[in-house]
Amino acid sequence: MHPKNAGEDALPNFKPIADRQIEAILISHGHQDHIGTLPVLMRRQPAARIFMTEATAEIGNTLLHNSVNVMTRQREEIGATLYPLFTHRETDRASDFWQWCRLRQRISISGERAPQRETDALTFEFFDAGHVLGSTGILLRAKGRTIFYTGDVNFDDQTIMEAAIFPEEKIDILIMESTRGDHAKPANWTRAGEEQRLAEAIDGAFNRGGCVLIPVFALGKTQELLAMLHRFRREQLLPDFPIYIGGLSSKMTDIYDRRAHVSRRQLPRLQLMEEAAPFVLNGQTICDAPARAERIYALSSGMMVPKTLSNILGRRLVENPQHSIFFVGYADPASPAGLLRDAGPGGEVTLDPDEPAQRVRCHMNQFQFSAHASREALIEYANKLSPRKIVLVHGDPPAVEWMRATLLATLPGSEVIVPTPGVELEL
Ligand SMILES: [Zn+2]
Ligand SMILES: [Zn+2]
Repeated sequence: MHPKNAGEDALPNFKPIADRQIEAILISHGHQDHIGTLPVLMRRQPAARIFMTEATAEIGNTLLHNSVNVMTRQREEIGATLYPLFTHRETDRASDFWQWCRLRQRISISGERAPQRETDALTFEFFDAGHVLGSTGILLRAKGRTIFYTGDVNFDDQTIMEAAIFPEEKIDILIMESTRGDHAKPANWTRAGEEQRLAEAIDGAFNRGGCVLIPVFALGKTQELLAMLHRFRREQLLPDFPIYIGGLSSKMTDIYDRRAHVSRRQLPRLQLMEEAAPFVLNGQTICDAPARAERIYALSSGMMVPKTLSNILGRRLVENPQHSIFFVGYADPASPAGLLRDAGPGGEVTLDPDEPAQRVRCHMNQFQFSAHASREALIEYANKLSPRKIVLVHGDPPAVEWMRATLLATLPGSEVIVPTPGVELEL
């Protein structure tokens, strides 16, 4: 689904497959843009089998039930009469059909373990994508040909997630994400250096006598950030301070904690809810939450979508020079977080179209903790595989364009395709 749009505009374009029967739906990971409308697709394609990792199933189930609550609320707030697009009962029924798959296991689309012998049967295999808990890239094989879809990928270690382990064999067709295609990896960037810079910026914000809002996605960025903040406190880089997160974030963090011992990750003994011990806010308590000094609010949504916790608190902080808002990941330029970041200090911003515009007086800072691969790492991976065709997806137009031009120059033997939505591609 489109993470920024609402109502019917957020639905994928299902029209091109409307009169075809889909055999299988493969879910790469549990972020909203990848799983957010799965019950709608399942309703339209009742014969399709659905495959994902066990972690993604647990995350997806939690996320979709949360979406039902959000959509039910929004039905009034934004007058979306089609909401909710699916119900709690439908979500329960849908998740009963999901089949869990382990990483690195060749599975035939018909659901059986594939025989060892090379056959004509279409098979898939999940590879660890290092993006968020449960995330995968997907290798499809049929008739001796291969297609690899990266999903959302990170080729570097994060604080919790370890770097992707992807196939390095010859691939015929590579379908690759392009999220960070419009930004060069900053010179001298290291994660350790960036963590240090964040700790110092928080210290500065506390010294100004303000609190810090960090808009984050509930899945992935919240847990990575909690792990960092926990380390800052433990190593006494900062004085002890309370951390606040939202309800969905706390549920996602519970899943990270429960699966800590069965996931491939760093800090496997770190139980975030116990040790980082965040306080949990909801739509009511956020209004009474004091914007007092030396507090960290790590709230979703990451793009500060109107009516979410990060947007509600953001509107309270934005005009006050004591307080700070830090950005730590991707924000669509047209989203409220993107608008605020681009407005800059002294600029004017409308964080919620139902509320008046505001003058930006708070302190702002940007950090690079993306869960997505740098464009340099994506190009390096494509060069290693040197596929016959490369299909670029999951990027804003300038990001895709940089990737396309660079791949054309470095891989003259490959065809680089930027697909047009709704138009069939002959692979
Ligand atoms: Zn993602
Ligand atoms: Zn995504």
